[in-house]
Order: sequence, then C-alpha cells, then structure tokens
Amino acid sequence: MSKPILNKLSEDIVNKIAAGEVVERPSSVVKELLDNAIDAQATEIEIKVVNGGIDLIEISDNGIGIPKDNLGEIFDSHTTSKISSIEDLNTLMSMGFRGEALSSITSVSKVKVVSKYVDEKIGNEVSFEGAKSSVKSSPKESGTTVRVENIFYNIPARQKYLKSAQTEYRKIYELLSKYILVYPNIAFKLFKDGKKVLDIKSVEGKVGDIKKERIKDVMGDIDLIEIKSEGEGTKISGLIAHPSSHSNTAKQIMYVNNRNIYDKGIARAVYEGYSRFLPFGQKVSFIINIQIRPELIDVNVHPRKEEIRFQNPYRVYMAIEEAVRYALEKELSYKKEPVNIGKTFQSIRENFNNGGERIRDISFNKKYTSVKDSLLFSKEILTEQEIKPSDDIRNIFQIFDKYIVIEFIDERLWIIDQHAAAERINFERLTNREKGSQYIQTLLVPIEINLTKEQILFVDEYKRFFEEIGFKIDINEKNINLLTIPSHLSNNDLDALFNEIFSLTDDIETLSKDFKRLKEDILATVACHGSVRSGQALDEQEMRNIFKTLMDCSNPYSCPHGRPAIWKLTLSDIDKNFERTY
Ligand code: ADP
Ligand code: MG
Repeated sequence: MSKPILNKLSEDIVNKIAAGEVVERPSSVVKELLDNAIDAQATEIEIKVVNGGIDLIEISDNGIGIPKDNLGEIFDSHTTSKISSIEDLNTLMSMGFRGEALSSITSVSKVKVVSKYVDEKIGNEVSFEGAKSSVKSSPKESGTTVRVENIFYNIPARQKYLKSAQTEYRKIYELLSKYILVYPNIAFKLFKDGKKVLDIKSVEGKVGDIKKERIKDVMGDIDLIEIKSEGEGTKISGLIAHPSSHSNTAKQIMYVNNRNIYDKGIARAVYEGYSRFLPFGQKVSFIINIQIRPELIDVNVHPRKEEIRFQNPYRVYMAIEEAVRYALEKELSYKKEPVNIGKTFQSIRENFNNGGERIRDISFNKKYTSVKDSLLFSKEILTEQEIKPSDDIRNIFQIFDKYIVIEFIDERLWIIDQHAAAERINFERLTNREKGSQYIQTLLVPIEINLTKEQILFVDEYKRFFEEIGFKIDINEKNINLLTIPSHLSNNDLDALFNEIFSLTDDIETLSKDFKRLKEDILATVACHGSVRSGQALDEQEMRNIFKTLMDCSNPYSCPHGRPAIWKLTLSDIDKNFERTY
C-alpha cells in the first residue's frame, strides 16, 4: 500500500467544495439572490431564467444598492454587511449573514453585478469569471442586478447532477412561490426563456402576512381556515386546509421569521391538531408562519439555511397544535338552529317511567315492536324529529344501503357515509352529555356484565366518567351491573361494547395512565355501538334526519375515528371529470 500523503488544498478547491454546500442547483442561486434583494429592502424583483437557470439566472431589484466602495469585496468569502460579531445572530432579522453566497456562486459560475447605491450619483459594475474584474462605472438607475451564467461550467462532476431544464425550472418556480406567499409587499416578475410567465403586483399588507390574493396561485383553489396564536415571544399565523378539501398533493409550507424552512416537528404538530378531524393517513395543505424572537432560534444550522433550530421546540409545537385544533373546532361548529332531541326523549322516558304504554306521539319504526327493543336505537332518535324537507335539497336517496346521496339546488352533491355520520352524531351527543344534557335510558332490569378483577377496578376508578356518559353502574365483587345506559344503545350490545373498550389497549395499566387520551377512544367506541350501520336501508325521513342532525355537529366532516363522513362534490367537479366545458 502506498503511503498516504497529506495535501493542503488550495483556496480555490476549498471554495469549490464549500460552494457545493450552498449552491446545490440553479434554484439555490435564485434563493440566495432573492434573499439579498429582500435584505436590501426591495419592493420590486424581476427574475429571468434561461434553460432552467442552467444557462442564465438574472435577478434585478429596486433595493438600496451596493456602495461603490463595497463592490470590490462582495465576491470575497465571509464578507457581509449584515453582521459584525457572532452575538449579532441573536438579533438577526436579515435572510443573509454568512457573506458566503456571492463568493460561492462566483466559484461555480460567471457572475456580473451592476448596482447603484441610493446615496450615490452613478451606478457601478463588477464581474467575476475565474477572477474578479475591477470596479467600473455603469449606467443604472437604481437597485441591483446580478447576472449568473453557466452554472457549474467549471465543475463537470456537479453538472452531471443537474436535472432537465424543465425540472430545474420547476424547482425555481416552487421556490419563488414561497417568497410570493410571504412577501405581499413585493411585486414579482418572472421571465422564462424570454417569455413573461408571472407578473404579480404587490398587495396591501406587511411582510409575513399571508394574503388571499396570493394564495390561490400557490395553493390552488382550496378551502382554507385561518389560524392564529400569540404568546411568550412567539406569534403563529397561517392557513390550514379545511378537512373536507381532499387533495392528492398537499402543500406544506412553513416559515420562521419569514424564512422558508422545513421542520418535521412543525408538520407533526399540525397533524396532531387535526387529529379526529382528519381520516388517518390523509394529507393536508397548510401554510404556517412563526414569528419568534431571534434569540429563541438558531438559524445557523444548515448550509442552505433550509432548517433552523428552536431553543424550545416543544413549546412551539404545542402552540401550533393548539392553534390548529382551536381553529378547526371554531370553524367546524357550523351551527344552525339547535335540534331539540332531548325534550322529545325526555317525554318518552317519563311515559315509560310512569309504567304506561309509550304514547305514540312519535313515529317509531315498525321494525322494533317490543318495549325492550323500542328503547331507542340511535336511528329512532333521529326519526323522532319532525324535519321538514329542506328547501335547498333537490334529491336525497340511498345507494348500496350504505351511502346517502344529496343533490342540492345550488349544484352541490354530497355523499354521506351513513355509519360514519351516525357515529359522529352519537359521539357528539355523548360528549355533550358529559356537559349535563341527558339521553339516558333507565333499565327496568339491570344488566350484569362480567369483567376481570382489574377491569372492575378500572371501571370503579372512572365510575364518574362512565356515569357522565350515561352508564350508572353498581360495582360488585365479580361483575358490574348497569342501571342506566346511553339511549342510543340496545341492551344486547353491551357485553361486546365493554369488551371493545378493554381491547383498546392490551394493558389495563396504560388504560388508567393514559385515560385522558383514551377517553375519546372510549367515547368513540360507545358512539359506534348502536349507530346506524352500513347495510341498513333508510327511508327518506331517516336520511333527512341524519343529514340535519349531522349538520348540527361541531365537526360533521368525519366520524370520531377520523374517517370522512362527507364527500363533497360539485356539478363542476363532475363536469370536469367528463371533460365537459359547457
Ligand atoms: P450575505 O447576504 O450573507 O451578507 P452575500 O454573499 O449574499 O452575503 O452578499 C454579500 C454582501 O453583498 C451583502 O452583505 C450585501 O452587503 C451585498 N449585497 C449582495 N446583494 C445585494 C443586493 N441585491 N442589494 C444590495 N446589497 C447586496
Ligand atoms: Mg446573501
């Protein structure tokens, strides 16, 4: 084996290696140049790209410009006007700070900068092609133009990794759209191979405000909900997709102090906030901007500044999760007139308790004739109300004994999963019952359920919770006796129900420990039992009742397990599918 020799790399090679970390592809150049224009307080930015940016990237801004004296040094590595000491990072609000971008770009391409500083009379230019030129005067009215040609012309190894011009262009476009979203105060123009492809005027608003006018271009036409929260040096704002807006491609855009970054924890926190509002595995689009005091983050952790580090990530994530959940809860409580089911039920119960025959003032389904059976399946509760045909429904019918299809007069078409809907309705009733309303049936003969010792201890420990949701329970040595049950349940369902509750987790210890989290799962399980099933034929009144009651739920869009309950379509969705344009 030949003896290893240590080589001291030349400055040129060192620069090229370092540049590789900053300049990965044409879009990285665009990013650095946009950051520089923004740091120079530009309000108009024009971008020209040729051949996906591989042949040319030229960015012009109307910012403050570069003083003549500085022009000779902007290509030197670690030369910046933005910081002078490491402490400055604690108060940093600029995009750049390393003084590396221009020097990196010059080591992999040919660069020319023309600029006029605001307080000087004439413009100047400097260029770099293997070595830097001297500074000479040049006509320029205001701002700065940076022209970058032939990226990686001197590093064939990197050239090989460039994708097609089309792909590189797409990456530039995607990058630019993130700037467009967060800088409403800046007008952007984009030219692709000589053709103007974007001309976006500035809109009222300050940096960091995500404006409706700009969202449509970037996110497409989706239903978005605003989120907001503030506290402890951190302000969170943004927009999240409505849970009903199913899209195959989810755009997840995040900013910290207007800097576009990616952080897995933020994405996770958003999804946590969505839990129970979103079918498992469904993707959602969102835009989140976190304004945070600069000393609470480290921006100097990634060569292309695509990531940042939070001093206290957990606090930020919690705030995001809460902001998302709060916004969803608020948005989805889609309240119309309250449906008064409680009262009707109360009257049944009173009649029943009086020992008399149930007074047939309510149209019960003929299928359940015995007193025991007629004790209120959820379906029955739904049919109790006199719901008049709603004016905006043109047609309502059932398909496959499973889905309710509703045609509205305003060209909307909804498909409702009848079981998911019934579960949601029962779930919300149970949750509300916790808050004191009553849909409880008293059993004439208590029902005995055999449980293990551990299970009995668990029920005993959470007796109050069970009572609040409608189970009044007598605890015995070897079993429990149910004295009351939630009204939507039928008696013969109860063994299975309790078994299912205990199979939510293998370990009863965790059931106790995690009770807060499991409470919702228990509620969901109780809601599921006794709900209208798929495979059950419904008549029109029943369908209308399900629809109406579902609309009174605070989140009608998914069942408590998170599966969707409603699929919203419009006539134009259907037309589009048939490629009909008229
Ligand atoms: P950094 O942005 O980290 O300071 P750069 O290499 O990107 O480093 O830029 C070096 C310096 O050149 C900046 O600090 C700034 O003073 C100046 N500069 C670069 N681009 C512009 C521009 N478009 N307008 C005004 N000044 C600029
Ligand atoms: Mg910079």
